Amino acid sequence: MSENVVHIGKVADSHFDVIIIGAGASGLMCAATAGYQGKSVLVIDHAPKAAAKIRISGGGKCNFTNMDVTPANFICQNPHFVKSALSRYPSAAFIELVDRHGLEYEERELGKLFCKERASDLIQILRTECDWAGVEIAVKTEVGSVRYNNQTYLLNTSLGELKTKKLVVATGALSFPKLKASGLGYDIARQFGLNVISTAPGLVPLVFEGKWQTRFSDLSGLAMDVSVTAGNQTFVEAILFTHNGLSGPGILQASNYWKAGNKIVINLLPHIDVYQALLDLKQSSGSVSKWLNEFWPKRFTQMWMGLNPIENELANVPNEALQNFANGMTHWELYPEKTAGYDKAEVTLGGVDTDEISSKTFESKKQPGLYFIGEVLDVTGHLGGYNFQWAWASAVACGLEV
Ligand SMILES: Cc1cc2nc3c(=O)[nH]c(=O)nc-3n(C[C@H](O)[C@H](O)[C@H](O)COP(=O)(O)OP(=O)(O)OC[C@H]3O[C@@H](n4cnc5c(N)ncnc54)[C@H](O)[C@@H]3O)c2cc1C
Repeated sequence: MSENVVHIGKVADSHFDVIIIGAGASGLMCAATAGYQGKSVLVIDHAPKAAAKIRISGGGKCNFTNMDVTPANFICQNPHFVKSALSRYPSAAFIELVDRHGLEYEERELGKLFCKERASDLIQILRTECDWAGVEIAVKTEVGSVRYNNQTYLLNTSLGELKTKKLVVATGALSFPKLKASGLGYDIARQFGLNVISTAPGLVPLVFEGKWQTRFSDLSGLAMDVSVTAGNQTFVEAILFTHNGLSGPGILQASNYWKAGNKIVINLLPHIDVYQALLDLKQSSGSVSKWLNEFWPKRFTQMWMGLNPIENELANVPNEALQNFANGMTHWELYPEKTAGYDKAEVTLGGVDTDEISSKTFESKKQPGLYFIGEVLDVTGHLGGYNFQWAWASAVACGLEV
């Protein structure tokens, strides 16, 4: 199947058992699953190509799942909502699928699985599955309106009027508008009276202003292994200094829990007892900056010593001052100005309220035949392949039921 193919033949029939809006991760997975159940399935998408986010994800290698997926890796107003789908379709099931297609992949830190070659290999697997399941895919297709009449959904689209009794909304969320992200899924939810929880950029860099922006800009490109705390969550992962603030996995993770006006707290030496190490250094008459350079990039040590002056040799420094110096390093409090916004966010927090949706079938409790899957829901995964795992798991649960 070529990339941009539009199967006008069957689409002209206009009536399908299942229509899925969104040919992204969850849409394609749901389509193949429903197709294998013997359903006639059409997937429509306004983008020029299917699954654009998979293509660019994970630096072009797509972190497609994680070896260790638990409900605690997800943010949702109802923390129990994700349990059923995740347990019915665990990461092992997706790994079994890609193994069957001979995908080469590698495990990186913290159980993250990435394609070895390119993310488009994974798109090809999904497209092949859709092909085998007899799914029709129509890209470059705009949805004008959706109506419900006589237990049938009538979609006014650029392909003409399409009809179905089962409409699956797999339109994703607002992040990365340049990849054709849109709020259509939320609009459809509201149109049928479903509550939508207010959205915000997630897994996103944090922006600083004033003196901190200047300082971080001077350090731009440096990375450090630290722990970052926002709200009541702590992540031990790397941070990266950027031209206007902080990024890197530790910051992206923390951004999901950061609220405007609040602080983040960084422990610059999370793996050691810093006060004890300073006492030992005092005993051995070692140099503080030399010691710090064993853990940090030199330019950061320089900045830190400039902001937190202490004698380089500790012999005459009182222990109380050592304790304060240690606390400064383990509880570095920073107040970001804002996030870098949807343009730079990997995901969107909030979305269709899961109280409105069956966690078994993903059908709306209010509106028969209307389903929501993937990121359009108020479910956001941590960094590490969890968002794709949610897309696969919610899609399969829905695809088996539609
Ligand atoms: C830069 C980046 C990197 C990422 N890396 C990772 C990663 O490595 N691991 C991970 O787990 N997650 C990653 N994610 C998150 C992951 O891509 C999403 O969580 C996942 O794609 C959500 O799947 P979905 O099917 O819900 O939505 P999507 O995959 O976004 O698919 C939605 C589809 O709906 C279509 N659509 C939207 N609006 C309309 C409309 N009005 N009409 C018709 N079609 C429409 C879109 O064109 C798109 O094809 C990353 C995201 C970004 C932006």
